[in-house]
Amino acid sequence: MNKSDFFPSLPLRDIVVFPGLIVPLFVGRDKSIQALNEVMKTNKKIVLITQKNAEIDDPTEKDLYSFGCEGKVLQLLKLPDGTVKVLVEGLNRVKIIECRNDKDYLSSLTEIVKDKTDLSQEDILALSTAIVRKLEKLKNINRKISLELTTSLKQQKNPSMIADHIAGQLNISIFEKQKLLEMNDLKMRLEKLIEHVNNEMNVISVEKRIRGRVKTQMERTQREYYLNEQMKAIQKELGEIDDGKDETTQLQKSIIKAKMSKEAMKKCLSELKKLKSMSSMSAEATVVRNYLDWMIELPWYSKEKQIGNMSIAEAKKILDEDHYGLEKVKERILEYLAVQKRVGKIKGAIICFVGPPGVGKTSLGKSIARATGRKFVRMSLGGIRDEAEIRGHRRTYIGSLPGKIIQQMKKAGTKNPLFLLDEIDKVGNDYRGDPSSALLEALDSEQNIAFNDHYLEVDYDLSDVMFVTTANTLNILPPLLDRLEVIRIPGYTEDEKINIASNYLIPKQIKANGLKNEEWNLDKNVLKDIIQGYTKEAGVRNLEREISKLARKTVKNILTNKIKKLQIDSENLSDYLGVKKFKYNEMESDNKIGVATGLAWTEFGGEILKIESAMMPGKGKMQITGQLGNVMQESVKAAKSYVRSKSIEFGIIPTIFEKNDFHVHVPEGATPKDGPSAGIAMVTSIVSSITGVPVDKNIAMTGEVTLRGHVLPIGGLKEKLLAAHRARIPKILIPEDNKKDLTEIPKNILDDLEIITVKVVDEVLKIALTKELKPIEWIEVESLPKSKSEEKPVTITN
Ligand code: ADP
Repeated sequence: MNKSDFFPSLPLRDIVVFPGLIVPLFVGRDKSIQALNEVMKTNKKIVLITQKNAEIDDPTEKDLYSFGCEGKVLQLLKLPDGTVKVLVEGLNRVKIIECRNDKDYLSSLTEIVKDKTDLSQEDILALSTAIVRKLEKLKNINRKISLELTTSLKQQKNPSMIADHIAGQLNISIFEKQKLLEMNDLKMRLEKLIEHVNNEMNVISVEKRIRGRVKTQMERTQREYYLNEQMKAIQKELGEIDDGKDETTQLQKSIIKAKMSKEAMKKCLSELKKLKSMSSMSAEATVVRNYLDWMIELPWYSKEKQIGNMSIAEAKKILDEDHYGLEKVKERILEYLAVQKRVGKIKGAIICFVGPPGVGKTSLGKSIARATGRKFVRMSLGGIRDEAEIRGHRRTYIGSLPGKIIQQMKKAGTKNPLFLLDEIDKVGNDYRGDPSSALLEALDSEQNIAFNDHYLEVDYDLSDVMFVTTANTLNILPPLLDRLEVIRIPGYTEDEKINIASNYLIPKQIKANGLKNEEWNLDKNVLKDIIQGYTKEAGVRNLEREISKLARKTVKNILTNKIKKLQIDSENLSDYLGVKKFKYNEMESDNKIGVATGLAWTEFGGEILKIESAMMPGKGKMQITGQLGNVMQESVKAAKSYVRSKSIEFGIIPTIFEKNDFHVHVPEGATPKDGPSAGIAMVTSIVSSITGVPVDKNIAMTGEVTLRGHVLPIGGLKEKLLAAHRARIPKILIPEDNKKDLTEIPKNILDDLEIITVKVVDEVLKIALTKELKPIEWIEVESLPKSKSEEKPVTITN
């Protein structure tokens, strides 16, 4: 083989030159510069062979690929630093048959490789057009592919040239490019190229998508970060936050400090984690922050320490300090406390004070709290209809809050307060929901260790809370009543009220109004006048109000008129309190026909109930007026039927009932709940109105009546007797069966009243009516002998 068959060659580091491509090359290696010099002397042909490994400086045959490109030097520029810039044009793909690395330059023996294909010319053309079209698409997303390239490719008709042009421009590895160079099967080359173009398109579109996403993400987080930082800076400027104490670390510390239950702590920490990833101004963050604030501020472990330290004697002292009388009530409270002290736990029934307003139910609750060293919190159940008011709303509701029980616990700040539930008899139960089941859970010592509030979502332990409840009536939902230990406070007598006023209410008002003891005093008689003329109640709330009114007026008088002491007596009382509101003596001035005095029991204590009846010509109709409930109306009808059935015994001509209308009226009906207990008073009133015999004004009565004339027992005897006592009615008729209840009545009341027990209505009428009734003899016309009947149809013996 001739040396002249060998062409000078250039080893290329990181480029593959394809036929048809014009590329600039920078040449620095001495041997390569030598080779170029050699080429310039001859026909300027040079072989361009890519190195397998770009790092080798002086490559030999084994370091070079076995395919290269025969090229022509178009331009050569020697640069001042000794390197050379050449512009070469690829001419043919060649196979390197032999390569020599001489001491002056690299040279190689080559053989031109022609393209071959087993496809028809048209198919190849179609393939090449397809790839040009693809490239056009790629150009739209890849700016590196120039417009010139695609336009020149469109003009190019030679598929082989098209393939090599594209191969030179593709963004693929040197290894891949070399493979394309070595591929002389045109069909395969074109297909491979299509694959590469597709790949590149995919890569670019994925890249673009990711870049877009990253960009928007970056923009959003950058914006939020920027705004947050700005806000922090403003807050810092305003002195709202200290350095290094940002919200979440602060919250985390508080959560740990709150010593919650394990479950609650876990929940809080997971909420805190959520909060950290939220934008601090977002609505969700506010919801989470509120939740955490609630959880942190709830008392989870803090307890009032001195509970149980107080002795029963001390507790008694406190109860006596705060309340006058109520001996039996106090006794029961002390028993309850003693048991608790022994057992060390709050288990079993819950105290429920039942009585009219103003008898001290709430203030007894406060005293128990004081006597047991507990904090006092209170919640009124009146009108609560919705379970959510007790148990709270779920956090998904806007503006949701925990239920009232949890709210009050937060207010108490300790785990073991005394929790007063007022008006447990007013808890509603209808289609709007049943709060009683939630209440039951709170009150039940078996269940309340894990009380479930919808807002908190975790259980809260109420087992250390001492619940006390109050009610005006015993009209409590049965499942609730079942858990309560009822202690009744029926109301006070006048003497008791005077004592309460002078020992408790007056000192309280003196203090509240900034008076001095010597500046103001109310003596017994004035108090009596106030009680009789300005209040009409079982408790002492209005009395306290009137006393406070007097205290205020005293302060004003002392300050404006510069006097030392204000003397209030029975004479000038009305100057301060206005005209008397109530007629003290409710007794009728004289015995009246058809007016009987009944005694009723209402939520406000005992009441005097005047029952009036009148008879007028008519057709036997019955009219009932006054605001009477259904029970009461039925009671009137039953009374009338009874009177009718006994008419002859009572001296009433039976036909009277057909020829007259009757009207029963209860002024100030006060819609008593226990209508039937006015039964005997109804009968008395009706009989009196028919017979025209007046009723004794000194008598009040209570008792239910059966159609056979038996007097049945009634409830609320004490309240009723207190009302009669207040009204100064001296003689009271009560059912025989209520005799046993008299032991509950204070002695001074029993001393003042003459109490007569009755079994049947006849006895009532005998005592209540001022004249004894004489039966009549009534013989029906039909039962008389015919001859006599026309002359003398009726025989009346009176
Ligand atoms: P209730 O809850 O039964 O409606 P409160 O407890 O509010 O009534 O009592 C009303 C006022 O009467 C309170 O100021 C209370 O201190 C006072 N009071 C009631 N009973 C007594 C009593 N036995 N001794 C002293 N004060 C009393």
